[in-house]
Amino acid sequence: TSATTIDNNSQKLQLPPFDYEPQPYKGPLADEIFSKRKKFLGSSLFHYYQNPLNIVEGKMQYLFDENGRRYLDAFAGIVTVSCGHCHPEVLNAIIEQSKLLQHATTIYLHHAIADFAESLASKMPGNLKVVYFVNSGSEANELAMLMARLYTGNLGMISLRNAYHGGSSSTIGLTALNTWKYPIPEGEIHHAVNPDPYHGVFGSDANSYAKDVQDHIDYGTSGKVAGFIAETIQGVGGTVELAPGYLKLVYDIVHKAGGVCIADEVQTGFGRTGSHYWGFETQGVIPDIVTMAKGIGNGLPLGAVVTTPEIASVLAQKIQFNTFGGNPVCSAGGLAVLRVIDKEKRQSHCADVGSHLLEGLRSLMQRHDIIGDVRGRGLMVGVEFVTDRKEKTPAKAETAVMFEKLRELGILIGKGGLHGNVFRIKPPMCFSKDDADFVVDALDYAISKL
Ligand code: PLP
Repeated sequence: TSATTIDNNSQKLQLPPFDYEPQPYKGPLADEIFSKRKKFLGSSLFHYYQNPLNIVEGKMQYLFDENGRRYLDAFAGIVTVSCGHCHPEVLNAIIEQSKLLQHATTIYLHHAIADFAESLASKMPGNLKVVYFVNSGSEANELAMLMARLYTGNLGMISLRNAYHGGSSSTIGLTALNTWKYPIPEGEIHHAVNPDPYHGVFGSDANSYAKDVQDHIDYGTSGKVAGFIAETIQGVGGTVELAPGYLKLVYDIVHKAGGVCIADEVQTGFGRTGSHYWGFETQGVIPDIVTMAKGIGNGLPLGAVVTTPEIASVLAQKIQFNTFGGNPVCSAGGLAVLRVIDKEKRQSHCADVGSHLLEGLRSLMQRHDIIGDVRGRGLMVGVEFVTDRKEKTPAKAETAVMFEKLRELGILIGKGGLHGNVFRIKPPMCFSKDDADFVVDALDYAISKL
């Protein structure tokens, strides 16, 4: 294997061993791809590293670049590769289905779509039994918002500040981070104070944050709303857990105002939090609508909305249709993902490795003042960097330097938060304790070199 070795004078940092040889790569190199990208691709400036990285192969929790160099993938293609890159069982399901039928649309019957819907519904609590398939998280949240508005007959939606719910023309209104928003009309959307225990004005006091939702309803609407949407751990916003007990209080308030409650599980689903299969379970609530994407397809373009038969019935007034949603190949892959997560006990693995990782990071925090906060659950972890612990001033420049340093050391990590000063560690769920130790050691080294 092409393990990376970095000499730290006294200590050697080395990726854990991994028995896999990547294929020799004969394709175009980074410079050529980058110049094409700049010329022809929209969003061409959104690349992560100073020298853009050309990734050509992936195997479980590792990625390989054009030179065969191995990287630990601590971000899983933005929290998407749940089982592991090219996981054999998922791959096989995709290949076998592709050989038989790639597409026919849901106007005909296909067993993979029905089996996948049944399997997904079996994972849901309460009366959440009706599944709609779409192709992305934004589409899932669009559909959820449409359902909420049709079902209640109200327009107003409440989401949280610091939320990310998508970049489509409606979901961009739910998103509440200026870095992602364009100045377009957003409809009737209210952003409530974020119940963020680290930055929030009320600390961990769920009651005060919930009161802000009530205030929005009382002073910003007719008294009735269509719905409330929240991630149970905010992802793009920098791995922010909501104050304990918050969702229970807010769901009550929103129901009383005639609204429905939507849980955005696009990042938190499928056991990643370790303690629970779904993120909303960490807050002891059952939503009326659940949206998901990313990890459900291990990288396939797949999303879903699950709701109750009663709410679903409002969509039956018209033709509700999505050409690719629930396509046979995606359904076969998604079914394999759910199977693998159970078979390989990925939820308890996330709990185990996640607490080991958090412990390592918290011990680093005791030695390095630049770490302002370490937070998260399971394999959904955030490390926030500050130049002043009391003021919580974002250490923007330092975070950018460490980010490049980790790449040099062989780790691809995520960045998040409004100021980009949070490292997001959300790897494929097969990430090991040795991988976690490597991340902690490499971060220790990167901080020591600032
Ligand atoms: N919801 C959450 C919580 C997300 O993190 C994202 C994407 O990052 C979305 C929705 C939008 O998903 P997509 O990019 O698939 O449209």
